Parts: sequence; structure tokens; C-alpha cells
Amino acid sequence: MVACKTENGTPASHFHMYTHRFSEGTYPDAKTRYLPRPCMHCENPPCVSVCPKKARISWKDGLVLTDVDLCEGVRVCESACPYGANYFNVDEPKDAQYLDWDNADSKLEGMWPTWSPELSKEYNWDADPEKKANRRIAGSGYRKNTVGKCTFCVHRLEAGNTTTACQQACPAHAITFGDLDDATSEVSKAITAAGSKVFKLKESAGTKPKVVYLGEAPAANAVPVELVPLKKDVQKNGTPELKNGTIPWK
Ligand code: SF4
Repeated sequence: MVACKTENGTPASHFHMYTHRFSEGTYPDAKTRYLPRPCMHCENPPCVSVCPKKARISWKDGLVLTDVDLCEGVRVCESACPYGANYFNVDEPKDAQYLDWDNADSKLEGMWPTWSPELSKEYNWDADPEKKANRRIAGSGYRKNTVGKCTFCVHRLEAGNTTTACQQACPAHAITFGDLDDATSEVSKAITAAGSKVFKLKESAGTKPKVVYLGEAPAANAVPVELVPLKKDVQKNGTPELKNGTIPWK
């Protein structure tokens, strides 16, 4: 979550990557577990189909992204997403919100820190001729009065990097990012090796999420024990997860 915030410069109250903490079982067999929740980059994303401004897009390579030039903050994507992945940017973005980007020490080896916002960067929508060329999409940065969410660090991918910031920072190497269509990719091999011990979230919603979890799914009676919304400044706008009462595994 911290790596994501430093990479994307998200407002204090919002998280592209949110790690749910939950407890399950009963004493003496109770345990605490964690469930990271990025955007699922769904194959059948309701956030795309409900947007009246066509600002939420299924883009090339399976990414679901926001065209910030089209987004007018209608916010129906927030309600449509069953995972609580969206949030509304109520504040102006701040440059260097979490890091002093001019300090050479902040440019860690292997990291690709970028200015926040990097909204001046333009992308050619070659995958969609209906779109004008050179639209801007949200990635490492945000704009006031638009809806944001995890982009799978599209700005890093476009720059030639092959990892997301959360993957790179995770000390447990719990996150693998890659090409699901390539059977030889690390992510495909990890899923194959896990056999039947894999699950996706809320498959019954028909969203066809592309995020695959390895291991045991949360038990039906798992109880959320949230980590974050404790301080007033964080509570200011609420977190999408709790505001909508969204428990992504239920
Ligand atoms: Fe859209 Fe939510 Fe699916 Fe992400 S997880 S693609 S925001 S419906």
C-alpha cells in the first residue's frame, strides 16, 4: 500500500492497492490473514459499461483504465464495481506528495519514481480508433473531480518496466504480475503450480476478474479487521472499501 502511494501519489484517504485484514476461525484456532485488493482489471468490467462519458475503457493488454480527459466525475463506476476499487478525487493533486523527487536518494535502484501527477503524458489510443489520438489516462497521478483506481502501474509498463510498484516492494514476494496469455510467464507458471488452490473474488458477479489468488479463499465467516481508517484525516472522505460496505470476498 505504501509503495503504491509513493508511486502513484494518491490522496491520503484513497488507495489504489488496499490490503484487507480479516480474522477467521474460533479460539484456539483463530487466525489473522490478509487480502491485497488492487483493481481486478475485469474482463467483463461493469465500471466500463455504466460510464455515460465512456471514460472508463478496456484498453490493450487487458488493462482497464480511465481517460481523465473524458471523466467528469459522474461516479457510477464506484457503485458498479463490486470490489470497492474506485475513489473520487476531491482534492487538487500535490507534486511530490510523499517523496522529494529532486532528492537523488529517493530514486532507489530499480524504482521508477515519477512526478505526481504525470498527467501531461499522452497516450496514443491505437487500440480504439473511435478515440482521438493522444488522450491522457490516469497512471501515476490524478486529477481533481475524476475517479481513480489501480492502473497496474500502466505508466511503468509504458516505460518498459515489467513490474508493478506493489510487486517490487513486497518483501514476501507475494505478488506476481505478468501476461496471463503467455503460458511461460511467471504469473502463468505460478497459477499452474498452485493447481486447484486458486480463487478469484466475487466470480458470481460475472465480472471475470483477472486477478488470481493462490491459496485458500477466506472462509465464509471471515470477519474484516481493517487496517487503515483510524485517523481523522484518513476518514475525511472515507475509504471506498468501507464507505460502500464492500467486503470483496463476500
Ligand atoms: Fe472495474 Fe472494479 Fe473490475 Fe476494476 S475491479 S475493472 S474498477 S469493476
